[in-house]
Amino acid sequence: MQPNVSGIGRCNTHLNISYNVNPSQDDLIQGINVAQMWNVPRLFHYSVDHLKRQFAGKKIHAAVVLAIARKNGIPTLIKPAVEALANSAVPLHSWCGEGEILCHVDIQEVSAIARMRERLHLVRLALLDVPPVIHDVDCASAGSCAKAWELYWYMKVGRKLRRLDGEVSHQLWWIRLQDVIKAQVPGMGIGCLAQTVTTVANNECWFAETRVVEGATNYLMVTERIPDWPGN
Ligand SMILES: [Zn+2]
Repeated sequence: MQPNVSGIGRCNTHLNISYNVNPSQDDLIQGINVAQMWNVPRLFHYSVDHLKRQFAGKKIHAAVVLAIARKNGIPTLIKPAVEALANSAVPLHSWCGEGEILCHVDIQEVSAIARMRERLHLVRLALLDVPPVIHDVDCASAGSCAKAWELYWYMKVGRKLRRLDGEVSHQLWWIRLQDVIKAQVPGMGIGCLAQTVTTVANNECWFAETRVVEGATNYLMVTERIPDWPGN
């Protein structure tokens, strides 16, 4: 039997006690707070389980999930929330001016997410610059070879880098895989292309979506706190 979150105000060690299958965001926040305050494991796990489901179903905003996780010592939710907030399909302006969200998050959380988003944006700007071609000794014409590469970069890679509304996570990783490593560039020497691609693919910027997000996650990480009172 699971506790009824709506009944938590009336009790502490004797929770009451029918299963609420669709708790609201406020129910869950209150449930987790009370579970921590009165050390009630079943209420805590019930609330966290529903919080995870509603987050996965996009019913609770990632910024709210991040704030709840940090306030209540739930480290397993920090990384998924930060990753969701790193997605370019969720622009910062879409939530950081909303009172309903800002009432949950603190200045440290907002500033960390803003810095993360800024770094990810700067990485994209850096990658927009056309990388120099490394010409092979057999290159027939360095001029036309470089021109073909520049056109390819601008039209194929740059076009994707300039798009910030894609739903796919780790966009830079995908661009590196599909459009850099597997690049086909008409008019460019085969040896030149191979050497250039090898160098460009090793650019650290392609891995920013993993490393920058890891940095923000570590910065916002908290120690786990789980109620462990036996029998509740
Ligand atoms: Zn060349």
